[in-house]
Amino acid sequence: MSENAFERALERITAAAEHSNIPDETCQRLANPKAMLTVSIPVRMDDGSLKLFTGHRVLHNDLLGPGKGGLRYHPDVDLDECKALALWMTCKCAVLNLPFGGAKGGISVNPKELSMLEIERLSRGFIRRIADSIGPDTDIPAPDVYTNEHIMGWMMDEYSHAVRQYTPGALTGKPLALGGSEGRSTATGRGGSVCVEKWAERASWKPEDTRVAIQGFGNAGQSIARLLDAQGYRIVAVSDSQGGIHDPDGLNIAEVIQAKIDGQSVDEIYCKGSVSDSGEVDQISNEDLLTLDVDLLIPAALEDVITKDNAADIQASVILELANGPTTAEADRILEDRGIVVIPDILANAGGVTVSYYEWVQNRSGDYWSSEDVENRLIQRMATQFEKVLDLAEERELPVRMAAYVLALERLGQAAGALGTREFFNGHR
Ligand code: NAD
Repeated sequence: MSENAFERALERITAAAEHSNIPDETCQRLANPKAMLTVSIPVRMDDGSLKLFTGHRVLHNDLLGPGKGGLRYHPDVDLDECKALALWMTCKCAVLNLPFGGAKGGISVNPKELSMLEIERLSRGFIRRIADSIGPDTDIPAPDVYTNEHIMGWMMDEYSHAVRQYTPGALTGKPLALGGSEGRSTATGRGGSVCVEKWAERASWKPEDTRVAIQGFGNAGQSIARLLDAQGYRIVAVSDSQGGIHDPDGLNIAEVIQAKIDGQSVDEIYCKGSVSDSGEVDQISNEDLLTLDVDLLIPAALEDVITKDNAADIQASVILELANGPTTAEADRILEDRGIVVIPDILANAGGVTVSYYEWVQNRSGDYWSSEDVENRLIQRMATQFEKVLDLAEERELPVRMAAYVLALERLGQAAGALGTREFFNGHR
């Protein structure tokens, strides 16, 4: 297996191409990002000193539309990681049949070390550097790890200054008051819950008998917990970076969320009787949460948490990847051999980019939708594409992850084919 994240991401594409009916040239196009930009951003710090930060933006592919993908603020951000994440975005947008290609970017920075004013100056400085490469018809950034709606608002404002035109459709994930969409903050959880609902119909799961463990209790983890809880699922364990809590009879999710809003970590809440319906709550580590005896496991935090070292111990029959890249390729093979179904990230967490697409449509039309309207469109699109992936997996006897990549590749292949292939040009000399 390659050490390089982009090469590893490409290995999945190459494997899926063997099961896809696509022109050979499709993979050649995907193996080479369309454009990569690395910039240096000077920022005047609060103490008067000057600091230079490095940022990247990768437009991986625009066969299906302008690039779409987040901007991440993290010390580990580098060009290779942006290339890999941009390739995933190309596939994710294709699986959801969105008119977008894939892109990703970020700044190598620990935002926790910066004041709010420094983050604003850094964010505006980054946009000034990449303004020529992004835009509503070229590449549309969104929030990602440690970026949020405030940052998207500053960036949209800065981009609008740069092009001398109010351009809300240049970035998504903005505050509502600056052209954001209703329903964006819960979109990823809601998209994941549609996958669970559709799977439950196929597998005849009853919510009250279905035990769920969720690793990561931030935006994605909390919103799916709230939605599954409302449908009667038994959420028996949740965790955040500090650790987790477990009650086989089911946690009181509304109380856990309230305690998080009040500033407590999940493991600090465990002695509160109110978070458990039975009052019997145990503390549990993040590692042990993954191997609990549950029906549905939802990784909703970090990459590479299900590995060759713990895949043999996973007891869930279904894993819903709400996080990006939580399962390594080696673990994937072990899970497949054990018959564990993985609903992959490029499908399971695509609710976020789907509502970003709706935000872009609303910004461009000037017609703003109600939260019910956004929700209904999201549910319908997620359900349709989920069924397509599952049907393809059944028809071609493929694991669900492979089927999702095959569906993405075939959509990308149709666009590549329409531009002309070797066969087309050789026949028209
Ligand atoms: P977030 O920052 O809101 O929450 C992350 C959560 O993970 C927090 O509860 C944090 O405490 C927890 N965490 C951190 N380290 C952990 C560890 N070692 N073990 C267990 N938990 C840990 O982030 P988010 O937006 O919820 O994103 C979570 C994942 O979902 C990421 O992989 C992200 O790429 C993916 N995702 C999010 C969205 C979205 O719209 N929010 C969309 C697509 C994919």
